[in-house]
Amino acid sequence: MTDFAATKAMFHLPDGVIYLDGNSLGPLPRAATARMARVVGEEWGEMLITGWNAAGWMEQPRRIGDHIGRLIGAEPGQVVVGDTLSIKVYQALASAIEMRPDRKVILSDSGNFPSDLYMAEGLIRTLGRGHELRVVPPGEVAGHIGPDIAVMMLTQVDYRTGRMHDMAALTAKAHAAGVVTVWDLAHSAGAVPVDLAGCSADFAVGCTYKFLNGGPGAPGFIYVAPRHSDQVRPALSGWLGHEAPFAFDRDYRPGAGIERMRVGTPAVLASAALEAALDIWDGVDMQALRARSIALSDRFIAGVEAACPTLRLVSPRDPQARGSQVSFRFEHGYAAMRALIDRGVIGDFRAPDIMRFGITPLYLGEAEIDAAVAILADVMGGALWDRPDYKRRQKVT
Ligand SMILES: *Cc1c(COP(=O)(O)O)cnc(C)c1O
Repeated sequence: MTDFAATKAMFHLPDGVIYLDGNSLGPLPRAATARMARVVGEEWGEMLITGWNAAGWMEQPRRIGDHIGRLIGAEPGQVVVGDTLSIKVYQALASAIEMRPDRKVILSDSGNFPSDLYMAEGLIRTLGRGHELRVVPPGEVAGHIGPDIAVMMLTQVDYRTGRMHDMAALTAKAHAAGVVTVWDLAHSAGAVPVDLAGCSADFAVGCTYKFLNGGPGAPGFIYVAPRHSDQVRPALSGWLGHEAPFAFDRDYRPGAGIERMRVGTPAVLASAALEAALDIWDGVDMQALRARSIALSDRFIAGVEAACPTLRLVSPRDPQARGSQVSFRFEHGYAAMRALIDRGVIGDFRAPDIMRFGITPLYLGEAEIDAAVAILADVMGGALWDRPDYKRRQKVT
């Protein structure tokens, strides 16, 4: 059993705020403050450069990777953290493409996060070997899998709508056609149970500042299946992915297994907060989290649909096809979200007209869901969003 009252107490949530944006930036784990202070004061401050050995900074990316691995169905030694998710997408895709030298198509879908598609386009341009990025509607991916496809690169849960791909079925279909798979778990890790080993996934990547609550700018992660990890060639062949970084050899020799997916110096301070955040998951059963996420999401959908007839659900109604967020379409969604935030309910907005709400059972319960519905009903019922200042776009939505 997971004690969700206990997990809620492990977060700092500002007074008067109902936080429905943990899908974009998780809140502050209380333990992160002291952990960061300790790493800054006792490790950096007192140990100086000896901290790389004495405080285990150099092993931290692997240690944290193992912790994340437990949440996504990976064994120790198969996940490493570093850089940002966009970089990890590039690394995974570059290595996957090299595994199918005779094929030229990367298959993805129009629900993918733009950065993943931008990175693929940049990589294609750099390679200059005539690869094609084929972007199809999410529901048509399975039909496009075939012997011309080199790599299928998908984000499991759609950042706008919360629609969730069937990872096991699509991976099996891809493998049957000889296609290498890259799964982006940005909205899956810490949101839904993931079983990379059970799906035989080839590569997976993700970020740690969303449902994993690692803090703004926390590092990305990458998984490489053990059957590939000693064969793949790293495209970003940085010194910390070298077999012996401190030999300072002129020749690059990739490190053993997942080590070769490291690039440069790890972000030690950011990782301190992330480690504190990951400790919270030790007491969490992912199946229990999923059941509670579905119950809270269904409650939110029912409440909003009853109280706000102008909002249209764009997330799948079937919980099995949905991640851990709920999105509604409204023509003036940007202004409505600003009005909501002004009243203490924090969600976010995704162009052109989507109001997005993250459902995070670690720190949200029925009381918060019901209060958010009531405030949303006020905003919509009284057209409280209809003010010029709410309509002016800020830089980050
Ligand atoms: C959040 C997100 C990103 C962001 O990438 P960063 O490099 O961490 O900024 C990329 N891809 C997906 C699918 C995301 O959801």
